[in-house]
Amino acid sequence: MLCLTLTETSLEKDLLQFQKNRDLIDMAELRIDLLGSEISVDALRRFPSLCDKPVILTCRRKKDGGLFSQSERVRVNLLKRLASGNFAYCDLEDELPRGEIDLTFREKGTRIIRSFHDMTAVPGNLFTRMQKIAEQGEIPKAAVMPNSFADTARIFEAKNELQKIERKIIIGMGNYGVPTRILYKKTGSFLTFCSAPGSSPGAPGHLNTESLRKLYRSDQITDDTSIYGIIGNPVMHSASPAIHNPGYHRLGIDAVYVPFMVDSVRTFFPFAEWFGIKGFSVTVPHKQNVLPYLGNISREVKQIGSCNTVVRTKKLWKGINTDYYGFLHPIHEDLEMGHLKRALVIGAGGAARSVVWALRNFGCSVYITNRTFDKAERLAAETGSSAITLQEASRLCADEAEKYPDLIIQTTSAGMDPDIESDPLPEYKFTGEEIVYELVYKPRITRFLNRAIQSGCRIVYGYEMLYAQGIQQFKSFTGFDYPQN
Ligand code: NAP
Repeated sequence: MLCLTLTETSLEKDLLQFQKNRDLIDMAELRIDLLGSEISVDALRRFPSLCDKPVILTCRRKKDGGLFSQSERVRVNLLKRLASGNFAYCDLEDELPRGEIDLTFREKGTRIIRSFHDMTAVPGNLFTRMQKIAEQGEIPKAAVMPNSFADTARIFEAKNELQKIERKIIIGMGNYGVPTRILYKKTGSFLTFCSAPGSSPGAPGHLNTESLRKLYRSDQITDDTSIYGIIGNPVMHSASPAIHNPGYHRLGIDAVYVPFMVDSVRTFFPFAEWFGIKGFSVTVPHKQNVLPYLGNISREVKQIGSCNTVVRTKKLWKGINTDYYGFLHPIHEDLEMGHLKRALVIGAGGAARSVVWALRNFGCSVYITNRTFDKAERLAAETGSSAITLQEASRLCADEAEKYPDLIIQTTSAGMDPDIESDPLPEYKFTGEEIVYELVYKPRITRFLNRAIQSGCRIVYGYEMLYAQGIQQFKSFTGFDYPQN
């Protein structure tokens, strides 16, 4: 079940938020700690009767991540007075003494969720504590903060460790916790919390109702659903879930593609094997880190020394590099026709490696320039290219006509959101004759690219490469061509 946490500051606005999201959710959580202090108890009691879906009553204290700042006595009294309010569930903290409040709610047919929160870590006694709550006939809920992928993996163990508890809720907060929210059924949780699109998240790591219902289709995930994803750090900005998930949906493939924030690939590989992950994309900083774990690598991975796609075969993990082919796709014909003889590559990071090798394999002569010059020198030595300083690169077209590049590829992160004011080669004067290829796709038009557009250059956008590499990945994962419209 998808449960919308209502995050507005008045009951009227909460009701509106509920109504706007009604068709995307199964239930709602009324967080009275987020409301202004003037709300009448009668109005609070009436709220569930205005919603045609079950409502959880929650009054979260500051120390548990909420906003309720009055005394515990005031909070407990308020909760007691709301027991006649026809709430489907009431969330009470584990350390709140059992007896009076919960009995009052139970008499009215409200089920008790007993929760505990750890806003800093995943506690060592996570499962035993949930077990003890369940033994009292209550629904245990744990909201904890994973600080590493090992913590995330531990939360998924709940499904086996706590399989005898039929109704439970276990949530990993923050970016590491996002997979536990999307794949909540794989933790054994009976619901996942989410926020309304455009509103501030009800808790760290909340996704919105649209994403959970339509993009990830979390409520439809079963034991048979194939799991794919992307690993990286950071990873939440990735556009790949928005490429892969709609593809599965349109072809009727029972699969989901999830962002996994991963600090250590050493932890991720055993998890992926245990969890049955069928394939994953790899982004910064793991494109080289994954290499020792691969049993089979493609020709371009061997040459570039970097892998952005890992696919599970019967017995081993196979690595390929779709960045290489994705980069070539928009300019393949120009290269085949021999129109591109000289290229200037700005940057010497992971993406530049794929770009330079792809161009060298087509016989292009390549200049590499980079903020850190020795990295440009190393890549140039490895690929038979020439390293030039940023100053030399800026003068390329002005100084020597025979060095003038037909193609300029911007492969640095300069200009990428949020660093949108940066231009990695601000002195370069475009002639308007060159093709300018920007790898950054967010924003669509960087400051650098905007100058090229103003000069009349032919442009290749970052999203063209992103999409081309994504659809090749899709085919490697599923065996199917990406659906056209
Ligand atoms: P990376 O390995 O971390 O390399 C980063 C590169 O950017 C290095 O050359 C670095 O220079 C340079 N750089 C970073 N900040 C800079 C700044 N403020 N000014 C000048 N240079 C700067 O990252 P990567 O994997 O190569 O990715 C680089 C960019 O390509 C990212 O924006 C990524 O999103 C994009 N990308 C796009 C696609 C696509 O499909 N469109 C695919 C892959 C990557 P130093 O060596 O001096 O640090």
